[in-house]
Amino acid sequence: MNKILVIGSLNVDVLQQIERLPKEGETLAIHNKSTNFGGKGANQAVAAARQGADLTFVGAVGADSEGKSYRELLEQEGINTSHLLEKDQPTGTAFIMLEDNGHNTILVHGGANMALTAKDVEDADEYFRDADVVIAQLEVPGAAIKRGFELAKIYGALTILNPAPVTENIDPSILANTDLLVPNETEGAALIGLKPTTNQKELERRVSLYQAKLSLTNIIITLGEDGCFYSVNGKVGRLNNAIVNAIDTTGAGDTFIGTIAAHLDPKFENVRETLERATLAAGLVVSRQGAIPAIPTAEEIDELAL
Ligand code: ADP
Repeated sequence: MNKILVIGSLNVDVLQQIERLPKEGETLAIHNKSTNFGGKGANQAVAAARQGADLTFVGAVGADSEGKSYRELLEQEGINTSHLLEKDQPTGTAFIMLEDNGHNTILVHGGANMALTAKDVEDADEYFRDADVVIAQLEVPGAAIKRGFELAKIYGALTILNPAPVTENIDPSILANTDLLVPNETEGAALIGLKPTTNQKELERRVSLYQAKLSLTNIIITLGEDGCFYSVNGKVGRLNNAIVNAIDTTGAGDTFIGTIAAHLDPKFENVRETLERATLAAGLVVSRQGAIPAIPTAEEIDELAL
């Protein structure tokens, strides 16, 4: 099992169910409101920890009750929070407006997440020395990720980048130190300036574009209900979903990535088995309500895999 360091975000997700988005100047009632822990970094860390991986989280919360609760939550999951910093900014918040027609509109306040610096990351040096895998997403400043991936490469860890939320200009020095890119179909296509596709032949054709445009040789693209595509270490393939009764897809990609980080051999010896496991884990998450509460344990996956 891998030792993992996550450089990532923690957000409080405030979910508001509404009939429709308000027009300019209009006041509308919210039918239902719930507050949940989220943030891609935290979701991925919890998913990896529930697989039994040894986790260190490098990130930031505010000096507020949300930050305190978040630290407790990570500690309950057995995650090392010695580099979960407290900043002079509120804990990150995502305001999710879910319309009755199923559309989502999200406003994010990065807050403490955006105060994470390259120096904060460097201060976790001893954990970089020990890590087999370092994972990052794009919800913390690029400078922090850049320094983290440099350290990971100095100490020989595998780096996994989840380019979410997608932006057109990821710092090329982050990409240069990325060993494995794991986008979803929308992010994967946007990075090479194309439209999303789930067509196997077209995905295979695009592998050379990731190499030419982004100098990336290893990529796993999650395709939602259509499973996932991979081209890793010269092996290209596709997996379908094993569990298909989706009721809430929140956290699907994060669970998939956390599970990969826990089990993937840093020399890529077990790609297909790892993806089979990640597919089962993500399938379980989508078949239950919520993100963190729905993330499965290693035992649950073992039972399914028998
Ligand atoms: P993201 O949450 O980042 O958008 P995806 O929607 O591509 O990521 O989902 C990640 C993984 O979760 C997929 O590769 C698949 O294994 C699983 N998954 C997502 N949606 C479904 C679904 N409707 N049914 C079964 N599995 C799903």
